[in-house]
Amino acid sequence: MEEAILKPRHSLSHILAQAVQRAIDPIAKLGIGPAIDTGFYYDFIFSEGVECKEEHLKEINKMMTKIVKEGQSFHRIDLDYDQAKEMINMLGEEFKVELLNEFKANGETVFSYYINTIPVAAKDNVLKWSKEEYLKKYEKITDYLKPFKLGDVFVTFIDMCEWPHVESTKEINADAFKLDKIAGAYWRGNEKNPMMTRIYGLAFEDKNALKAYIEMMEEARKRDHRLIGKQLKLFTISPLVGAWFPMLQPNGMTIRKEIEDYLRELHKDKWYQRVRTPHLCKHDLYITSWHIHKYGDNLFKVKGREEEFFLKPMNCPHHMQIFADNQFSYRDMPVRYFEPATVYRDEKTGELWGLLRVRAITQDDGHLFCRASQIEEEVSTIVDIIKKFFWTMGMINNYRVSLSVRGEDTSKYMWWDDVWEKAENWLEKAAIANNLPYKKILWEAAFYGPKLDFMFKDCLWREWQLSTIQCDFNMPERFDLSFMNEKWEKERPVVIHRAISWSLERFMGVMIEHFAGAFPLWLAPQQIKLVPVAEKFIDYAKQVEKEMKEKWIRASVDSGEDSFSKKIRNAEIEKIPYIVIVGEKEETTKTLSIREYRSKKQYEISNTEFVDKCLLEIKNRSL
Ligand SMILES: [Zn+2]
Ligand SMILES: [Zn+2]
Repeated sequence: MEEAILKPRHSLSHILAQAVQRAIDPIAKLGIGPAIDTGFYYDFIFSEGVECKEEHLKEINKMMTKIVKEGQSFHRIDLDYDQAKEMINMLGEEFKVELLNEFKANGETVFSYYINTIPVAAKDNVLKWSKEEYLKKYEKITDYLKPFKLGDVFVTFIDMCEWPHVESTKEINADAFKLDKIAGAYWRGNEKNPMMTRIYGLAFEDKNALKAYIEMMEEARKRDHRLIGKQLKLFTISPLVGAWFPMLQPNGMTIRKEIEDYLRELHKDKWYQRVRTPHLCKHDLYITSWHIHKYGDNLFKVKGREEEFFLKPMNCPHHMQIFADNQFSYRDMPVRYFEPATVYRDEKTGELWGLLRVRAITQDDGHLFCRASQIEEEVSTIVDIIKKFFWTMGMINNYRVSLSVRGEDTSKYMWWDDVWEKAENWLEKAAIANNLPYKKILWEAAFYGPKLDFMFKDCLWREWQLSTIQCDFNMPERFDLSFMNEKWEKERPVVIHRAISWSLERFMGVMIEHFAGAFPLWLAPQQIKLVPVAEKFIDYAKQVEKEMKEKWIRASVDSGEDSFSKKIRNAEIEKIPYIVIVGEKEETTKTLSIREYRSKKQYEISNTEFVDKCLLEIKNRSL
């Protein structure tokens, strides 16, 4: 986070805590209060009998604005352990003791505190409505801090913190922050600890940025894929099956199949070979691959009659076995396997979120086996697929890529120093050659190799990490993979893991929100709704439907009991791209009256022309 925004965000979390103590509960216990990407939060435990709910945010927000306008100073002082402990005792902050002791155990001897003050002369006026207990508490603190020579001031708040803050609360733009919501959060994220009340605030550079963010969130709520998924009957979550395992309705499956087919098509001319691996495997595979040590807790175990198996959490080790059963020479390299396959992960963390967090994940997974010198070219091929795919989805604007490499301490990563360096160089060369907007990030490489991660923005400018290209030196080593080189010696290949959409489930969730359910024609589950103006035209409408279906266009006739206008409304609610009206004139002249859902355009067109137009739009996967 840039310091220019970090400072006000951090300062605002202190101001929030002060506001809560002044306006709601002078002895509320404090947890932590960090700056976050959208603003800040603070965790509280309120005294018995004190209520703090959504409806109190307005009052707290008002107090925060008052504090900002009071122009309180932020001073930093450094305390030793005993002083810090004494301070915490005076404040009655039992949770902070735990933090203090932890810092001490980490070898810290100086603890920085940020103090807010106002001139003593202004005290009576500024704090005139404050609660008695609040004033008493900070009178004590003011006395205790006398030796620090802060001047003729009264302390209004103090908090242990090591981040930078503004010098005066007046520097904060009162129009650029707003309290957002209340949530519960366990102290330090541990469910065995007490539940605290977390108050979130939004804070941005200026009023307009705050307004834009609030509007974006409003729009995001409307686009929530769980909501649209229900409205358009795309997927179903059944309590009997389990919320982690959404099921696709026919409409949802149509979208998924279109995405899958497109991915397959993009691989066709890139010399990939399809492979297939089963969902269960022996423990031995994951012992050899070492994953059991890294991901053991996330593995689903399946008890057979005699033996226990794993549900596969990834396809990589399986693909290694397929490679190993061949005797490849350098002439065969690179070898490229592709398998969109469902893997299972018993993820413990995070809450349910429709299709975006599931435990059965279908990756459009591919593994390339190549020589180190082939990395650059192979990466280019993958980048080509990625770019085409996201261009078609309308997400290619302003994407960014991170090139994750090793930090200075190379001992944390796998052996083979020279190959590492080469791989990092080749990845970077490929990034440059393909004009990728990349940034090198130290320390972020996986232990098994460097990688390129692609972040794409949806139409609300929310960023999603989707594609990934990862070099791996670990698995070829663990599975002792080799091919014969020019000197007829065994050479170890490098493995490249790559996924384009990350997972089909998550990607579908992103697409539903990106298009707000109004899909482009090629993705739309129902492409055309034929609406006869009266019952006697149903037969003709069905004849047109048949002609369209023969061309693989997903058309259907609304032959129900509803009135004509109701039928039009229904088709609009279903966000069907083309509503086609059929009546007497249309039947005699072999024309159709079209209403486009997204552009709201209305026009007449001949049957054949319309079908050709649709086919072209589908073929081009037009947006
Ligand atoms: Zn702070
Ligand atoms: Zn893999």
